[in-house]
Amino acid sequence: MATINENYLKLKAGYLFPEIARRVRVFLEENPDTSSRLIRCGIGDVTEPLPQAAIQAMKAATDELGNRETFRGYGPEQGYDFLREAIAANDYQARGIEISADEIFISDGSKCDAANILDIFGADNRIAISDPVYPVYVDTNVMAGHTGPADESGAYAGLKYLPCTPENGFVAEPPDEPVDIAYLCFPNNPTGAVATREQLQKWVDYARANRTILFFDAAYGDYISDPAIPRSIYEIEGARECAIEFRSFSKNGGFTGVRCALTVVPQTVQGYTKDGEAVALHPLWLRRSTTKFNGVSYPVQRAAEALYSDEGKAEVQALIAHYMGNARILREAAQQCGLQVWGGVHAPYIWIQAPGGLSSWEVFDRMLNEANVVITPGSGFGRRGEGFFRVSAFNSRANVEEVARRLSSMNW
Ligand SMILES: *Cc1c(COP(=O)(O)O)cnc(C)c1O
Repeated sequence: MATINENYLKLKAGYLFPEIARRVRVFLEENPDTSSRLIRCGIGDVTEPLPQAAIQAMKAATDELGNRETFRGYGPEQGYDFLREAIAANDYQARGIEISADEIFISDGSKCDAANILDIFGADNRIAISDPVYPVYVDTNVMAGHTGPADESGAYAGLKYLPCTPENGFVAEPPDEPVDIAYLCFPNNPTGAVATREQLQKWVDYARANRTILFFDAAYGDYISDPAIPRSIYEIEGARECAIEFRSFSKNGGFTGVRCALTVVPQTVQGYTKDGEAVALHPLWLRRSTTKFNGVSYPVQRAAEALYSDEGKAEVQALIAHYMGNARILREAAQQCGLQVWGGVHAPYIWIQAPGGLSSWEVFDRMLNEANVVITPGSGFGRRGEGFFRVSAFNSRANVEEVARRLSSMNW
């Protein structure tokens, strides 16, 4: 008899995006004539075509693979040096941050990395997660058996939830008790919040005092336009001793369908055995990567490298400028309706308070029925997301302008 991982049975059945898809399907079945009017501002996926620099590099790399002289088979599991060096030089060293190429691991996505990193940690860690949050952090801990069951509100026993509210500007302070692992994501999905240098320094100081490891998700780092706001946790003094950083080419280079990301594990970051003996995490993650992964495809790594060429950088900047222009239009339209709005300044997400005490799903249904616009209900990101909704700026300009018009014409 093959038994199953019963932790999977603890997962809440109605995962956010399938439920959104279901409601949209029902709506379209009942209102087939609206299907061409429907605008999706729900799921956080990019819409604009890939940068030409990436396309050319991918094509050239594919041609190399088609030629006996330049053919390549398996590459290094942790990524090709050409890409790791381009990342170290451009994302870190050029900004005065001490991260070297051998501390960078290339992967096919930050979602997988944020999940897989749990492989090298023990089962008994106390884990802090902000609420609302990117659901992947919670569900992967449930699957790994790090929690008890969920209560009626969807909160899992054993996790330390850090409320993110208008009062704290959606940036949680470190808890007043020790935790072993804490997830931070700035700029934040879903709230669009960013953390200041001082706020991040508090987290790093807390982590060093409590031997906590910070998982810092910087998937939206390139959306920060204010140089005073850190794009990387390693801009903070002491972070090399306590932080693992996840970055992705999904949201800056539009690689959601291409798949390439990276994880930084500094040589100086340590965990502990049960007996309190310090163990460097870098060799563990290297061992994990070389055993369970065979690397990202060569053409994709060349495409990612090309994002660091002059042409590539300009194209990435243009993509971000496009989405942030959208974000501004959406933010201003929502504000003009008298709605309470956060985010959308250093992140492609607008986080809006549901007016008149409506629940997140009630706003979802109103937006779908009255404006034919799909948004994401905040409650899907956690209990504290209830009463809010997220509007994604990943769209064409024409769609965003139309969404702004429809928002304004609704009777809020
Ligand atoms: C989109 C996103 C990522 C990127 O995931 P990939 O697997 O690299 O596409 C990571 N973290 C957050 C919070 C995201 O929204």
